Amino acid sequence: MARYTGPVCRLCRREATKLFLKGERCFSEKCSFDRRPYPPGQHGQGRLRPSDYRDQLREKQKVKRIYGVLEKQFRLYFQRADRMKGVTGENLLSLLERRLDSTVYRLGLASSRSEARQLVRHNHFTVNGRKVNIPSYQVRAGDIVEVKERSRKKACITTAMEQADRRPTFSWLEMDKKAFKGTVKALPVRDELTLPINEQLIVELYSK
Ligand code: SF4
Repeated sequence: MARYTGPVCRLCRREATKLFLKGERCFSEKCSFDRRPYPPGQHGQGRLRPSDYRDQLREKQKVKRIYGVLEKQFRLYFQRADRMKGVTGENLLSLLERRLDSTVYRLGLASSRSEARQLVRHNHFTVNGRKVNIPSYQVRAGDIVEVKERSRKKACITTAMEQADRRPTFSWLEMDKKAFKGTVKALPVRDELTLPINEQLIVELYSK
């Protein structure tokens, strides 16, 4: 599946918030958003007229960028969320959180979602003992995500695990660092996602 390969810090500046797309750099003083907290480009510091459509569009772009999903795939997630029982916006975030790359990141086995995506693609994990190299694979409650034996000394994984302590933990995930193994105990809970997202705006955008 295609992915965005351009500069990522300008995405944070465009969305006017830190999206934490670059791992450790996001917590350092090198963070571009901290240094230049205004949109990129020649007119980045110009005044914008208030617009509902713009707010809705920006919210959708922000979520796509956080999870590294392009438009077509994002729309499929939305359609699936819309067909599910419950609140569509919350279903959408739950589906995105249940991606294997996002789960690997949340478990602290990668320093960013893009790194997690690459590690998954390169066959460093198993799910329930079986090789899975599809970043969009949807984990379920009870699944066990494990670092393969041969990958346990990989520098980016061990470094991410050391640095994971500074990141929040989530009740639906349990990590056993010694065994390089994480368990998905339940489905993601919206209240625990502290991301600056108003998913209702995305629902309004796609409902037009
Ligand atoms: Fe965003 Fe991280 Fe770049 Fe800062 S360092 S602008 S948080 S991607």
